[in-house]
Amino acid sequence: MIIDGHNDLVSRIWRNEEIRHMHLDRSADGDFAGGFFALYIPSPTPAPPTTVHYALPLPDPLSTEEARRVADEMYEIFRTLPVELATAADDFQPGRVAAILHIEGAEPIEPDLSNLEEWHERGLRSLGLVWSRANAFAEGVPFRFPSTGDTGPGLTAAGKELVRRCNDLGILVDLSHLNEAGFWDVAALSSAPLVATHSNVNALCASSRNLTDAQLDAVGASGGVVGINFAVSFLREDGHNDADTPLSEIVRHATYVAERIGVDHVALGSDFDGALVSEHLDGIAALPQLVEEFRTAGWDDDAVAKLTHRNWQRVLAETWR
Ligand code: ZN
Repeated sequence: MIIDGHNDLVSRIWRNEEIRHMHLDRSADGDFAGGFFALYIPSPTPAPPTTVHYALPLPDPLSTEEARRVADEMYEIFRTLPVELATAADDFQPGRVAAILHIEGAEPIEPDLSNLEEWHERGLRSLGLVWSRANAFAEGVPFRFPSTGDTGPGLTAAGKELVRRCNDLGILVDLSHLNEAGFWDVAALSSAPLVATHSNVNALCASSRNLTDAQLDAVGASGGVVGINFAVSFLREDGHNDADTPLSEIVRHATYVAERIGVDHVALGSDFDGALVSEHLDGIAALPQLVEEFRTAGWDDDAVAKLTHRNWQRVLAETWR
C-alpha cells in the first residue's frame, strides 16, 4: 500500500490540463491508497530551467480575495474526486483511495485566521505556509540552483499565530517550499512532528527546494518525515530538468535520509501532476516499479513498509489527534 505526500491533480483539472500521473481509475494497479491532494493557487510561472545554474524570480503575491475565490473553486473539484476524505490515519486502506485536503500556500487563509476553522470543518488537515512566493505568513524559496533555502526572513507574526492555531486544530504544517529562516521558526514553535511533504536532500542536489543536513536532523529529532519528491530537477546532482532520469535517483535521496536520520523518517512525496518526473515512471499505476527499485537496492520488507505507508500513518496519527 502506498501513501503519497503530494500531488497536484486538482490544480491540473482546474487548469483544464491533461492528467499525466494521477489516473485514479488505475489506483489498484499501483497499490495507491492516496495521500496529500493539494489545492495550489497558481501564479503565472516561467518556463522550467534547462540550464545548470538558474535563479528564477518569484511571482508577485496574490490577494487573499483572489486566492479564496480560486481555492473555493478547487475545493469543489476536490469534492468531485472518487476518493474518501482522509481525517484519520487508518482512513488509508488497501483497495481504496483516501485524500488529505491540503492547501499549498496559505493565501486563501485570512491573515487574521478568521476562516481557518471553516477550512478545518471542510476537512483541511494539512497546510503549506507558502508555495515559494511570499504571503502574509511567510516567505518561500525561489527556484535556484545551486542554493540552499537560506533566502530570506522567517515567519511574520501572523505566520507564527497560524502555526499555533494549526497545532491546536490538528492541521499538519508542511515545511516544503518554506525558506530556512521560516523552517527554524516552525521548528522552534510547533508541537507537532516536523514534516516536509515533498522535498529532497540538498547535499545530493543543491536546489533551494531541498533540505540541508541540519534541517534533516531537525525533522528526525522531532519524529517527523520527509516525503521524497520525484521532480527530476530536485533529484539530479546536476539539477537538470531532464525526464531521462533513472528511478535510482529517488532511491539515492531516500537512502541518504534513512542513513542520516533513520528509516522511520522517510516517505514518498511524488509531486505527481505538478512537476517533471522521470519518463521511466508512468504515474500511480507504475509505483510498484519504484518499490521494486528500492528492493533491488537492498531495502527489506520492513523498510519498504515504512517508506510506502507506515511513516505517513504514524506522523498523521500524532499530528491529527
Ligand atoms: Zn510544491
